[in-house]
Amino acid sequence: MTATAVSRSTHTPAVSTAIELYARHTPGFEDRLADTLGALRQAAMQHPSTIVQATSLGAEDMVLTDLIVRHDLPIAVATLDTGALHAPTRALIERMRHRYRIAVEVFRPSEDAVLHFVATHGEKAMYRSLELRKACCQVRKLEPLSRLLAGRGAWVTGLRREQSEHRSAVDLRTVGQDGRVKFNPLADWSWNDVWHYIATHDVPYNPLHDQFMPSIGCAPCTRAIALGEPFRAGRWWWEDEGQKECGLHVGEGALAAGGSKAAPAPGRGEEQQATGTFA
Ligand code: SF4
Repeated sequence: MTATAVSRSTHTPAVSTAIELYARHTPGFEDRLADTLGALRQAAMQHPSTIVQATSLGAEDMVLTDLIVRHDLPIAVATLDTGALHAPTRALIERMRHRYRIAVEVFRPSEDAVLHFVATHGEKAMYRSLELRKACCQVRKLEPLSRLLAGRGAWVTGLRREQSEHRSAVDLRTVGQDGRVKFNPLADWSWNDVWHYIATHDVPYNPLHDQFMPSIGCAPCTRAIALGEPFRAGRWWWEDEGQKECGLHVGEGALAAGGSKAAPAPGRGEEQQATGTFA
């Protein structure tokens, strides 16, 4: 399945929100929603007290958080603040707490590690080479993710097959090398489904989605996409398409041992890197 193309051009009709652009009810939506809810219920039942939603704060993850809260599922919610997020992304964490009255645990990178990386390689190191970009992701994302997952038996992500070719074979449930289970209950949802749910359930979302950013990561590494570009074209846009994962969603299990395993050296190959939901 190919990635969803999202439009932006001078010929774009006068629409102003992601909901207006993308929300569509398509056949089978109710079945997909019921399947997702069933998968979440089963996941929570199978992993009492040890399951967490690792939310990227993207549209898909906002759907999942809404389902978890709306159906009172015993699944914790946690996220990463890399220290390089856009202000609206950071603000969304507070909006979630206010709206849902839940604890959202936030994991941040080591201040010393970030200072050392920036002092050694500079603020714009990620643009200079793939190795430096992955090294930055290691410090700001992968290491905090290892702490987020520490002691967890399972986690929930918002991965969808439609997001990219790289994700086109995402399974609903996978087991990492360390035995930790990863649930991707939106794997077969479309972008239209995601926004249909958001529209019909009044789900809070990142306003950057209204600015043609379907996939949002750190500010230095995210741009708006243009007419006809793939879903993730605005992420690490200076790199080859095949490199566009930060290591959080590739190769099951490398970091999923709750931080007990060292992350691989940057640039050694995505298959050796950790899995996650923030790529
Ligand atoms: Fe660093 Fe960019 Fe990776 Fe964020 S996405 S951790 S800023 S390289």
